[in-house]
Amino acid sequence: MKKIRIGIVGCGGMGGGHAIAIQSGTGNAIWNGSNVDVPGFDSPATTDISQLLELAGVVDIKEERQAWAKERGMKVYPDYETLLADDTVDAILIATPNHLHKEEAIQAMRAGKHVLCEKPVMLSSEEMLEVMAVSKETGMTFYPRQNREWDEDYLMVKKIYDEKLLGNIFNIKCRIMGSRGIPGDWRGVKAYGGGMMLDWGVHILDRILKMVPEKLSRLYCTCTHITNDECDDGFQLLLTFEGGLTVNLEVGTCHFVNEPLWCVYGDQGSAEIKNWGLEGRMVRLLSWNDRDATPILAGAGLTKTMAPRGKSKSVEELPLPKFDFDRNELYKNFVEVCNGEAEQIVTQEHALRVLRVMEAAFQSDETGSVVEFNG
Ligand code: NAD
Repeated sequence: MKKIRIGIVGCGGMGGGHAIAIQSGTGNAIWNGSNVDVPGFDSPATTDISQLLELAGVVDIKEERQAWAKERGMKVYPDYETLLADDTVDAILIATPNHLHKEEAIQAMRAGKHVLCEKPVMLSSEEMLEVMAVSKETGMTFYPRQNREWDEDYLMVKKIYDEKLLGNIFNIKCRIMGSRGIPGDWRGVKAYGGGMMLDWGVHILDRILKMVPEKLSRLYCTCTHITNDECDDGFQLLLTFEGGLTVNLEVGTCHFVNEPLWCVYGDQGSAEIKNWGLEGRMVRLLSWNDRDATPILAGAGLTKTMAPRGKSKSVEELPLPKFDFDRNELYKNFVEVCNGEAEQIVTQEHALRVLRVMEAAFQSDETGSVVEFNG
């Protein structure tokens, strides 16, 4: 496969991480490029991306980030135009604040470069349609870097769902909870594409919309503004799919006690993934026979309906499914697509659908009503 020479615009936390990842071959796009060794990224199934991508150089408007890149032996271009004018560069990786993605992507494609663009790829579906039209017109790849369908926690949930390990799934809950508010940079400013819906919302919608092969019928959303008036610092979003599956997605930045990252409920059992350390379990139903239990004390009353099963013979506890996978598949697929050897795993149409669902979620928040989506 022909190596792709790539230039990075925006060499901050994410762009710096990409730069280090490409230089080192790990694909371990580490925050701020500090060389933290994250377990799992040395898995044998992981593609060495230095065999696929070559770092041409970086552009950043901040002198400290330019110095950071130079210290690591990276070429620093004086500005974006100079990077785009370099004929040895095949592709651009966009890792600037969100409001800059559209213009940078269009400029790159018009300069004959393929584009790998950080999420949220655009601020709106309208912007996305414009970029898709330029990609079509120029024949240049526009690839959304929606990378979290390669998260191990999500892949566990997908396996449980796809293979019906707990029967038919009727409800999924995914909660991303922190306690630090929105970071004090551009992420808290609306004009720069700030807010948690455009940040974590993209990731968690991206994955669920990819996993469930059904139309999304309707949704209801409430955004929170606990720590920031201008941008949403979290949200609760309820999705209902055509077949009846409901999905509760929650992002919060003012939670000092966390609920499980995932809960999955099927008609033959339940699963929980407690945290990113992947602690959790599946509890599978063996028999419905012992419906009647001895009542337990529940607050000021008794309940037998909600009495826990304890060590009952009617359920079994199982570990979460484990498997190996290529954590660098997105980079690999991007290079294959640029070389005309594969179709995009993360398609433009999928990124467009994610943006449309986020717009419907904002509409629901503003109007206080359920939005019929049907798509
Ligand atoms: P950041 O603020 O750390 O870095 C952005 C960099 O862009 C800064 O160094 C800034 O100086 C530079 N910059 C700003 N304007 C510029 C311009 N006109 N030309 C060149 N450089 C410019 O932000 P970040 O956390 O690295 O986020 C960057 C992008 O990556 C965002 O779109 C964000 O959503 C995305 N991101 C994705 C993931 C993921 O998991 N896929 C994770 C974090 C961030």
